[in-house]
Amino acid sequence: MSEHSGTRPFGIETVIETTRASLPGYTGVVPLHTPDYSANPAAWSYVKQCIDTGWVSSAGAFVDRFEQMLAEYTGSPHAVAVVNGTAALHVALELAGVRDGDEVLMPALTFVATANAARYCRAIPHFVDIDERTLGVDAERLGDYLKQIAEQSGDGPVNRQTGRRLAALVPMHTFGQPCDMEALAVVCERFRLTMVEDAAESLGTFYKKQHTGTFGKLGILSFNGNKTITCGGGGAILTADPDLAQTAKHVTTTAKCGKAAWEYYHDVTAYNHRLPNLNAALGCAEMERLDQVIQAKRAIAERYIQAFADIEGVTIYREQPFARSNYWLNILMLDPEHAGRRDDLINAMNEAKLLVRPVWNPMHTLPMHADCPRMELPITESLAQRIINLPSSPHLL
Ligand SMILES: *Cc1c(COP(=O)(O)O)cnc(C)c1O
Repeated sequence: MSEHSGTRPFGIETVIETTRASLPGYTGVVPLHTPDYSANPAAWSYVKQCIDTGWVSSAGAFVDRFEQMLAEYTGSPHAVAVVNGTAALHVALELAGVRDGDEVLMPALTFVATANAARYCRAIPHFVDIDERTLGVDAERLGDYLKQIAEQSGDGPVNRQTGRRLAALVPMHTFGQPCDMEALAVVCERFRLTMVEDAAESLGTFYKKQHTGTFGKLGILSFNGNKTITCGGGGAILTADPDLAQTAKHVTTTAKCGKAAWEYYHDVTAYNHRLPNLNAALGCAEMERLDQVIQAKRAIAERYIQAFADIEGVTIYREQPFARSNYWLNILMLDPEHAGRRDDLINAMNEAKLLVRPVWNPMHTLPMHADCPRMELPITESLAQRIINLPSSPHLL
């Protein structure tokens, strides 16, 4: 409403000037999202401790500490650190019971890792549409869709069109904005779907005071270099179930379980997905200042929201009333009539050293996932043409 009562007309130069004006003090290249440890002396000190002691690799105290910090911050009873978010999602899906020939429901608008992780389990991604208000899975339309395609079997819900089991729903919190989790929980309960949350982008994001990634049977986080905080590379599996947590640890650490620590005995074919202590050291240092990082990111979002408020034809995405978002990547949304200008705008902004980028190509448009089942995807297809992510690093404040 008020966001569209603009007084300045849409124009490429206007968008560039307004973005620059939101980031005073940054005259040069402004990357989309980069790490910066200059405000965090603990990062160097913890990494140095690893190097000084030789505990750089697959064992060490920082891994345990990082897991404890993640559990405490998110309120998840258990957190298992792993090598990256993609590996976390793969293992989480396996532990949720996703098997060869199953289908896994997920938004069509996501990073490719969500769909790839289902494929690693030999399952088939099944794409659902998103809600323009949350940018995540549309619970109401998913419910209507499942009414048509799902039937219950002794083994859980089955897609009556393909005969395959619908093994899980993977909501993803797009750019740190939470899905409507209560509405999705109702759909999962009604259709007996297991929920596994892809919270890779939403460390620091809460839905009604509950941290994202803690609603499903399992959830995952990512600490890739472009995420809210990074360990260089890293991920975590969150769960409230102590047995699942123990299994997650076991199968991501080669399932080594000899009677003596020196014995090479392994009881299942497992993964070497451990997070090295060196990376966990960086993670601990970053967790210590996560609250400041989120505060800075929310302040940058507020600047963009204010600065763009009077420009016609564009909106900066604002969190929903139920959300407290980390604003991982800020979203400049073009009105449909300007969708055709998106690529010109992105090119011009990059030439002006504002390293913005569009949202991902939707999963059903990628060759390896093009044949997957899907519902009608009008919102995904519309928003995929209209979203531009603005520079959002916390040190831009
Ligand atoms: C970053 C990301 C991942 C994967 O995390 P990595 O640590 O890069 O493997 C998975 N899903 C989504 C939605 C992401 O943004």
